[in-house]
Amino acid sequence: MKKILYVASALAFMACGSSKDVTKTEDANVDQAAKYAASITAKDLGTHLYIYASDEFEGRNTGEPGQKKAIAYLKDFYVEQGIASALGGDDYFQEVPAEFLNKRRRQTPIKDSENVVAFIKGTEKPDEIVVISAHLDHEGIKDGEIYNGADDDGSGTVAILEIAQAFQMAAKAGKGPKRSILFLHVTGEEKGLLGSKYYTENPLFPLANTVCDLNIDMVGRIDDRHKADPNYVYLIGSDKLSTELHNLSEEMNKKYTNINLDYKYNDENDPNRFYYRSDHYNFAKHNIPIIFYFNGTHADYHRPSDTPDKINYELLENRTRLVFYTAWEVANREARITADKAEVKKESTEK
Ligand SMILES: [Zn+2]
Repeated sequence: MKKILYVASALAFMACGSSKDVTKTEDANVDQAAKYAASITAKDLGTHLYIYASDEFEGRNTGEPGQKKAIAYLKDFYVEQGIASALGGDDYFQEVPAEFLNKRRRQTPIKDSENVVAFIKGTEKPDEIVVISAHLDHEGIKDGEIYNGADDDGSGTVAILEIAQAFQMAAKAGKGPKRSILFLHVTGEEKGLLGSKYYTENPLFPLANTVCDLNIDMVGRIDDRHKADPNYVYLIGSDKLSTELHNLSEEMNKKYTNINLDYKYNDENDPNRFYYRSDHYNFAKHNIPIIFYFNGTHADYHRPSDTPDKINYELLENRTRLVFYTAWEVANREARITADKAEVKKESTEK
């Protein structure tokens, strides 16, 4: 409720400028991306995460009551912000049927689940879609212990909420985005990247029109390698398909966020193979450029101790802003980024 009041009064203030021309000139000198990025705050991220990763959500196990609470929370947020569903109307849930989720035979069958899909339509190139994704599920309850999954992937989830809010504020002020943005919260990641697999096999917008996927999975913590200098994030995959995407990501970081971008896990020969281990991979395998944002693993990874009090919210804020700036640039630049490094399929070269 507080946020609605804040947005409403901010808009009222902007609309009440005494001289329109003065307001216009002043506005032209303002860095629009920075203006809206400022709405992404450690405080708001914390407010969301202490709810989203609370015991009430029971570890958000795919298909279980805790996961249903999680998707209700996400939907309520988008409705409150006036951000549309990608499905139209007030249904924000792309159903992911049990039949699909249980294709691999499982000891405990998974029940029907949902991806959450919110959408801001582009002002100039609405058919070109920029996807920002994070997984909404986690491990649930095991041996009576709740796996809260604050970092995995509560952090990515609340990052998307704040990014969506920033884009919506810009949209309301007539500042784009030029391309459309799909805020995609996928289910079943912990069961084998299933929600993103389902989405890419049943996309709401043609994959050919999908510009990129910026995937956020664990961005609120610090791993052992960076204890001494925690201003970092691992980027994985940024240069694999699109030189432009990699370059603009670097540029945005230099201009705005100044995070040490660590490409250690981008190495093809890294034994962890993280490139293949989160939801972006389901986009990458269709030749859609991706960036995976990741803080690395830590002692609480996939343990009941991955709780919201251990998140570094200042870091989470700056990392979230980096994703926002990158999305802003991809969505608003003149030409669509190209997948210049994508492998050309045989049939298309023969034609
Ligand atoms: Zn994860």
